Amino acid sequence: MNIAIKNGIVITMDPIKSIFERGMVLIENNTISYAGEENNNLIQANVKVIDANGGIIMPGMVNTHTHIGMSLFRTLADDTADRLKKYLFPLEKKFVTPDLVYWASLYSLTEMIEGGTTTFADMYYFEDRVADAAIKAGVRGILGESILDFPAPDSKEPYGGFKYTEKFLESYSNHSIITPALAPHAPYSLDFENLKKTADLAEEWDIPILSHLSEMPFELTQIAKEFGISPVELYSKAGLLSPRMTAAHCIYVNDKDINLLKTSGTGVAHNVVANLKGGKGVSPALKMFDMGIPIGLGTDGPMSGNTMDLINLLGYTAKIHKLDNKNRTVMPPQKVVEMATIGGARALLAYTTKGV
Ligand SMILES: [Zn+2]
Repeated sequence: MNIAIKNGIVITMDPIKSIFERGMVLIENNTISYAGEENNNLIQANVKVIDANGGIIMPGMVNTHTHIGMSLFRTLADDTADRLKKYLFPLEKKFVTPDLVYWASLYSLTEMIEGGTTTFADMYYFEDRVADAAIKAGVRGILGESILDFPAPDSKEPYGGFKYTEKFLESYSNHSIITPALAPHAPYSLDFENLKKTADLAEEWDIPILSHLSEMPFELTQIAKEFGISPVELYSKAGLLSPRMTAAHCIYVNDKDINLLKTSGTGVAHNVVANLKGGKGVSPALKMFDMGIPIGLGTDGPMSGNTMDLINLLGYTAKIHKLDNKNRTVMPPQKVVEMATIGGARALLAYTTKGV
């Protein structure tokens, strides 16, 4: 169906961030064919016209990091220390089934659609059920089965995520809205050989990689003790840093780490509210953005950030970076909207021309 959306303020992410006060967007054969001043001459007889009633017409937002199958665990153990290992992993072991993932994902997708999200990157278990939910909801997904060094809900054996990914890839290669990914959980939950294996497989299968990186204080000490380097340096050594990778969090990164991210073309998912809730600190995301690192926004899982509503995160993101930099000018709306939209697209699929 061809659609025209008119009578609204069109915000674009073109190179000069054009805004059209009385704008119009035309969608023909599933592709945006026009975004500019309202022009009724362009509207043919077969076009469905939507009146935006003076509202904002803007690009869909991209949630660069989440675990949407976790909505049933939202708010559990919210203020408890060591929540991940003490509560989350055991809860998942006991309760996570393919059906639970499907229904929880549909619930999260409803929230994401209402919050303006049209594309999301997810790493969890039973991603084929997340894919079923995403297809039903009509939201694009870059989906990766978590790979870990211990048994998980989807596998009695450690590292079962590799096998799952291979099967998932067979079912969804060349799908119009689902992009399979590899999802090594974190530097502390895979050994070095398997980190390297992930990097090699991503090349062989030509797919993106999703992972957590430099998120936990214990992660830094554990990697430093074992390897004498930072988590980012470890990922670099394993061959994981590349435009294929979208690394979530990157809170504890020094200048050397940031340079490695930049020179490798690695994407970053900035989850500012989840990081605040965990009391973890503020990622130097704005510095990375200003350096040209592909960076987008993420909610993290509903248990980590309590919300799937990306539009609600825009104000937080701008204000937190203003506070962090003690400067009210550093993050105007254009910047935060860029991060939430085209920034997320760059972070997720910079290595490919596949659209988001
Ligand atoms: Zn996460």
